[in-house]
Amino acid sequence: MPIANGDGALAGTPLRREIENLDYRDALKVLEAEYPSKDGLDIHTLLDSKENGALTYNDFLILPGYIGFAAAEVTLDSPVTKRISLKTPLLSSPMDTVTEENMAIHLALLGGLGVIHHNCSADEQADMVRKVKRYENGFISDPIVLSAKTTVGEAKELKEKWGFGGFPVTETGELKSKLIGIITTRDIQFHPRPDDLVTEVMSTDLITAPAGTTLAEANAVLRESRKGKLPIVDNEGNLVSLLSRSDLLKNLNYPLASKMPHSKQLISAAAIGTRPDDKNRLQKLVDAGLDIVVLDSSQGNSLYQIEMVKYIKETYPQIDVIAGNVVTREQAASLIAAGADGLRIGMGSGSACITQEVMAVGRPQAAAVFAVSSFAARFGVPCIADGGIQNVGHIVKGLAMGASTVMMGGLLAGTTESPGNYFVSREGKLVKAYRGMGSIDAMEDKKAGGGAKDSKASNAGTARYFSEGDRLLVAQGVSGSVLDRGSVTKFVPYLLAGLQHSLQDIGSKSLVELREDVVSGKVRFELRTVSAQAEGNVHGLDSFDKKLYS
Ligand code: GDP
Ligand code: GDP
Ligand code: 5GP
Repeated sequence: MPIANGDGALAGTPLRREIENLDYRDALKVLEAEYPSKDGLDIHTLLDSKENGALTYNDFLILPGYIGFAAAEVTLDSPVTKRISLKTPLLSSPMDTVTEENMAIHLALLGGLGVIHHNCSADEQADMVRKVKRYENGFISDPIVLSAKTTVGEAKELKEKWGFGGFPVTETGELKSKLIGIITTRDIQFHPRPDDLVTEVMSTDLITAPAGTTLAEANAVLRESRKGKLPIVDNEGNLVSLLSRSDLLKNLNYPLASKMPHSKQLISAAAIGTRPDDKNRLQKLVDAGLDIVVLDSSQGNSLYQIEMVKYIKETYPQIDVIAGNVVTREQAASLIAAGADGLRIGMGSGSACITQEVMAVGRPQAAAVFAVSSFAARFGVPCIADGGIQNVGHIVKGLAMGASTVMMGGLLAGTTESPGNYFVSREGKLVKAYRGMGSIDAMEDKKAGGGAKDSKASNAGTARYFSEGDRLLVAQGVSGSVLDRGSVTKFVPYLLAGLQHSLQDIGSKSLVELREDVVSGKVRFELRTVSAQAEGNVHGLDSFDKKLYS
């Protein structure tokens, strides 16, 4: 160090003389006095400069800030629509190799959101929504109820269908009728005569709680009672709702879970198209309990989508609508004016996507996210950065560009919770199928009524990438495979921990702070040349293992 090492190479040079007169403790004063403009670039200089061309995630880095807190203190809460916020800013794509009920349930438990695909019949899609909504509850306000005439065999069938076996029994078999007993899995599991009535095996010494009990009070009774279920009854002993012990455990095990505040049910989201038929599909999804609908078009600024947004806002004011996809301010303005509660940004940046190559239309993702989300922010409309996310760094960059959340397809397609089975590739690696919804494969399945292997995909018309009457299919995506990534219950916590560490390096304690600090110019950026990108990746090693977490 020159200051400590008096006779170093700098002795006698102008720099050496300057140093001699300085107390190094004055470094911060010198910085303030002589460097009025900050190191690095502010976001506008980074992205608005036409000389740089339009940027994407790999073209820039975020400069480190000041660490004044632990990584674990960083909060990642962020809105996904005007009304609904998530604790984990991660979404899974509505693709038939990415999101069915299993992905939707597990992502929601981890605080994110899975958008169920629509490459299947409306009934199949509604079924998936129903499973998400039924998975966790506070008070179960519409429990499956048996009557005194139900047989043990019928109860077993209901258990098969719904996946749970605790059923209250009322006189009429309806809610609001007198509660006479409760059946649990153990009552019927080994019962030898399926034709016997449930009244012969049900428990009748019931612990109940009165209507009007708060959720916290009811939970306390449930804990005390050591029973699996707590029926809630009115003054006349009629059943009004039900509480399940397993929900208490789920609440303890998944503190970040994305739940509607009153029902404590998981938030469910599903995609639809913008054809007239999609209105019938939506009705079924709403009946199944849908909270958020995503209008799935590769170019969202269309007459069809604008009319669909208006129709949904008028017909189902309780449902939030995410419109898209868009990559320009002008596209966004039309959809915001129509009433969109959220926007999805990205065109051609997806990992299985060839739109930019084939159609010559699209936009590099960082530029698209910045342009759209900085405009949408003025109207309080949150944006999703959709596509092109390959690692934690890309998530951070999407969020730093102004997106509230990011959506991933390929990165989640290799997890246990995505549809389909693992298989061994020609190179001997464990992989799962992943395909663009505009791939010939996916489009032909739609037309022919097939479906992605082992998924519920079938003939129902994700009309995202082909138009009615099209005789020739023009692919906008490819079909391939992605590496095994294990379960999202491990992978998502890794992504979140990575995000917290990254925000700590940047010096922002929350996503809200990150956005404010980017807008104010406090967070600085640097462009990356091609050789800088090479430097930033592993280089010069003969071989290495890239294990990302343990
Ligand atoms: P069971 O003991 O076989 O009923 O199953 P569990 O209690 O382990 O799990 C039941 C899960 O299903 C809980 O998370 C409930 O919230 C959920 N669930 C959703 N709808 C219903 C319903 O109508 N009846 C019951 N029993 N559970 C429901
Ligand atoms: P929360 O714990 O942050 O959800 O706080 P609230 O005040 O909203 O919850 C009220 C009560 O409901 C608390 O006793 C919670 O533990 C409990 N609770 C929260 N989520 C669930 C759930 O999914 N099922 C059940 N049975 N109880 C829940
Ligand atoms: P990924 O996370 O794999 O990079 O991108 C996922 C996103 O790619 C999806 O959310 C969707 O927006 C987009 N996408 C999915 N299938 C296709 C396709 O076939 N063509 C194009 N252009 N985009 C696709």
